[in-house]
Amino acid sequence: MNKRNKKVSVGIVGVGHLGKHHVKHLTAMDNVECVGFYDIDEARATVISDKYNVKSYDSLEALLIDCDAVTIVTPTDTHFNVASDCLTAGKHVFIEKPITKSVAEAEQLLTLANTNKVLIQVGHIERLNPALVPLKNYSISPKYIEIQRLAPYDVRGTDVPVVLDKMIHDIDILLFLVNSEVESIDANGISILTDSIDIANARIRFKNGTIANLTSSRVAQDHVRKTKMFQQDLYITIDFLLGLTEIYRVLDPDEPDPDAIQDVPFHYGGKTKRIVYEKPDLPSFDALKAELENFTNSVKGSATPIVDGQAGKNALELATNIHDLILEDLH
Ligand code: NAD
Repeated sequence: MNKRNKKVSVGIVGVGHLGKHHVKHLTAMDNVECVGFYDIDEARATVISDKYNVKSYDSLEALLIDCDAVTIVTPTDTHFNVASDCLTAGKHVFIEKPITKSVAEAEQLLTLANTNKVLIQVGHIERLNPALVPLKNYSISPKYIEIQRLAPYDVRGTDVPVVLDKMIHDIDILLFLVNSEVESIDANGISILTDSIDIANARIRFKNGTIANLTSSRVAQDHVRKTKMFQQDLYITIDFLLGLTEIYRVLDPDEPDPDAIQDVPFHYGGKTKRIVYEKPDLPSFDALKAELENFTNSVKGSATPIVDGQAGKNALELATNIHDLILEDLH
């Protein structure tokens, strides 16, 4: 049978807060055989097995015998060991973000995947946020980007500093938007509730002149996930949480804009121009489901990972550099 028509057999490692959603989506996909999952918490395993009518395996080794690909949804400090076992067994892996706790570990996983001729995909889910979809219709070359990601305290994710848990989502998007190397970083942060950094700010200058200012907190009162991009004649604001993308453009008097909701002339220096406001309709889809479809289709060879292992490592590398600078600044 053609590889593309064959069902991909997938197993899940870790069925906690996020892993249960992997179970829900993978058990419902037509082109996937979800063989089951492995979780070290037996009580949790029983609940999820009963709820989704899916097999719970007693060990990772037993799960790996039955599948071609694995999604790893365990705490970050376990990603390296679990993924190493899966890759060594010749399984394709989808690893939730961040890829690993350290860049050296991420490099080892990339080498293992290469040796075993299997793929790594990383769960930087914001890359599939429908709010990013309209960007493909514009020529994006921001001069300045302002990014905020704030969340109330939740013990989940505190196994790593806020830069590796929250800011890394925005770092991945930033590296996708700005096609240039980092020139310099200025960063600071503080610990509030945990032993590691809970609030962080980084100002990144790229070699092409783009500046990005990122703030992340896991001790905020409310959730905020906003990105604002400024460039010549174009301002884009994205609310990842609400799913809202708004675009302001400066146009000449006779330039058409069929998507304009508001069209306001202004006068400056003897010239007349217009500011037009657009609010594109966003497609409606579940980002996690789309991400897992991208993974299973990539395993089948009919797609390529939207965020591959290298992109996951690049995001981790920049996050680690930022975090190291914050620690240096504190000492
Ligand atoms: P969680 O603590 O709710 O669940 C983790 C599960 O893994 C638990 O059930 C635990 O028993 C199990 N587990 C731990 N070690 C294991 C091992 N060695 N083998 C098998 N099972 C093991 O955590 P969570 O919030 O679901 O987060 C899991 C991962 O997903 C983390 O890496 C986190 O950063 C990531 N995450 C990503 C997003 C996103 O937006 N992409 C959101 C939340 C979490």
